[in-house]
Amino acid sequence: MNRVRLLVLNAALGPLDYSVPDGVQVVPGHVVIAPLGPRTVTGIVWESERLPGSEVPAEKLRPIREVVAVPPLSAPLRRLIEWTADYYCAALASVARMVLSSGGALGGPATMTEYRLSGAEPSGRLTAQRKQALEMLGGHQGTIRELSGASEVSEGVLRGMVGAGLIEPVTVAIDRPYPPADPDFDQPVLSDDQLRVARTLVKAVEARKFAPVLLDGVTGSGKTETYFEPVAEAIRLGRQVLVLLPEIALTENFLVRFEQRFGAAPVLWHSSLKSTERRRAWRAIANGNAQVIVGARSALFLPYANLGLIVVDEAHEVSFKQDEGVRYNARDVSVMRARFEQIPVVLASATPALESLHMAQTGTYELLELPSRFGGAQLPAIKLVNLTEEKPGAGKWLSQPIVDALEERLSRGEQSLLFLNRRGYAPLTLCRNCGHRFQCPNCSAWLVEHRLSARLSCHHCGHETGVPETCPECGEPDCLVACGPGVERIADEVAELFPEARVAVATSDTLGNPERAAEFIAKAEAKAIDVIVGTQLVTKGFHFPELTLVGVVDADLGLEGGDLRAAERTYQQVAQVAGRAGRGSKPGEVLIQTRHPDAPVIAALADGDRDAFYAAETEARRDAGAPPFGRWAAIILSSEDEKEAREAAVRLGDTRPELEDLYILGPAPAPLALLRGRYRYRFLVNARRSASLQKVLRDWIDAHQFAPGVRIGVDIDPYSFV
Ligand code: ADP
Ligand code: ZN
Repeated sequence: MNRVRLLVLNAALGPLDYSVPDGVQVVPGHVVIAPLGPRTVTGIVWESERLPGSEVPAEKLRPIREVVAVPPLSAPLRRLIEWTADYYCAALASVARMVLSSGGALGGPATMTEYRLSGAEPSGRLTAQRKQALEMLGGHQGTIRELSGASEVSEGVLRGMVGAGLIEPVTVAIDRPYPPADPDFDQPVLSDDQLRVARTLVKAVEARKFAPVLLDGVTGSGKTETYFEPVAEAIRLGRQVLVLLPEIALTENFLVRFEQRFGAAPVLWHSSLKSTERRRAWRAIANGNAQVIVGARSALFLPYANLGLIVVDEAHEVSFKQDEGVRYNARDVSVMRARFEQIPVVLASATPALESLHMAQTGTYELLELPSRFGGAQLPAIKLVNLTEEKPGAGKWLSQPIVDALEERLSRGEQSLLFLNRRGYAPLTLCRNCGHRFQCPNCSAWLVEHRLSARLSCHHCGHETGVPETCPECGEPDCLVACGPGVERIADEVAELFPEARVAVATSDTLGNPERAAEFIAKAEAKAIDVIVGTQLVTKGFHFPELTLVGVVDADLGLEGGDLRAAERTYQQVAQVAGRAGRGSKPGEVLIQTRHPDAPVIAALADGDRDAFYAAETEARRDAGAPPFGRWAAIILSSEDEKEAREAAVRLGDTRPELEDLYILGPAPAPLALLRGRYRYRFLVNARRSASLQKVLRDWIDAHQFAPGVRIGVDIDPYSFV
């Protein structure tokens, strides 16, 4: 090949052609550096017939400058890039950038720093933590994070020991191997149900064919232990495994279990990796040296050398949907990746998305069920508390039945979990004197008071201010009132009721990094916490055997607003959080506070009647032409200038396609009409399955030229309706 077409990582440029100098070998998938004007661009060699561009005469072509020394991106991955761009109406370059996620992976220093005990004598007395580190670390060497895992001592303590000379840095090669996972390290005895499911999955790995599976198992059924068996088989066969987890906070729990089962840590991939760790992982994944990769949704686009299995754990989680940039759903893209790679993919959940369940019921996915909890644990008893009858006192949020149940748990030394999906202390602050409400200057949203950090903050853009002593509007001192509850306020209420109780707030504010999540888990497991008050962060994954009470503070909260999946999401959240109760030998109880005990989703929760909920929701979706029966898309036009945004939306609206199988609503101001300083207008598109939705949208939008200040975002299968 002496002429190549490049998919360059800059969406504004389009495909570019280059010549290949004599003696240089390139094939599709190679990552190359090419000259562009006075600079260079990174590009991926692509099949030119799949990437239409203008033909440049041969004599005008400039030669590529360098072929980057990483394995070429495989054909299945190239097809995945094309599919993703096409399906989500995104630029190929934007998807390709996710694959080469750290440009740094392609070059950069060949070494990094690891740490080990220096052997120096400690001067003076050691803290218990430091002593533990000295005892546990022995011959270990690794990143601070790995040493923290090995010693069960926090990263902060270890860094302190580096400062004190007890731990020393060592320079090592970036491409040194990861410790190998041993598929037979510590195999658990599986229950009959687990064994049946595990065997099917192991066979699917061996068959090496596309096989989408829905692993539908109740909370506490041991889905993890079960899918570890096909993971082990893939390791035995020398293939790579990708496990996607929805939250970094869940990773810690997973890592512990993984190490117990396989005797070594998996390779981690998430946004807070340091650049050296990221480069090491990327390269090991690309050259096949990483066996099991555990990551957030972005791990889906990595260049696996030899992928043999994908597992999506808690597959119903909305955080698998990316809401900016390329707006993809990792759950759906993982199925496509498995198809291109011709491998099995397992979607594991106790509360599958309706779409996934539908695929299983119609035979597109294989359905494997774990109908009971492991080890004879019982699912908890669920009761509704009707808030219109059991009114909490003024400025209070917990009804008497929950207070009584909490008291009982405290007296028995058991743990309780109160769930409210609202961070901070209060969602709205106003002035008692003049009625002034604290609003974000950049967003159409109230500022949320956070007492732990003494700030008012916007949950959309991150804007923060201190809490003023006087009202900024009328100048009155001490007149600010907090309206409504957040988790911090519930925690205060518990502390007032039970001053002796040890209460922990568990949200992304308090457990935002792996280290703090690990600390929280350790404390909860050691029974150093009596009452956990948490957001959706604590609804899944956690396994605390002493936790016997779950209180849902406001089950109606999620049903408000214009979210088309509100009922499903409420069902999933409440069912998941209920699933935290009674996982050990002691039975669990769940109390759900609601003002609408007769709402179908609440009634189904109370009856534990999952099938009834899914059946009712399926019919509602069928009537509405919602997924999986029809499709939705959102188009958001935004600009810092209100008029510019409105005019662009109106102009686009004027040329809306008129089609039988596709309805377009809008333009209207988006529910969040101002977000991060940009005014937003929205179209909602509802299409029947027969419509070629993406093509229609692309043709419609591409026919317009908008002012440079206007941004337009297309969201296929949206999860966010703001
Ligand atoms: P799920 O993810 O389905 O809610 P988990 O995987 O968290 O359930 O399992 C619940 C608990 O049961 C965990 O503590 C897990 O370690 C334990 N467990 C599950 N299966 C087994 C097994 N076969 N042997 C020993 N412990 C198991
Ligand atoms: Zn804001």
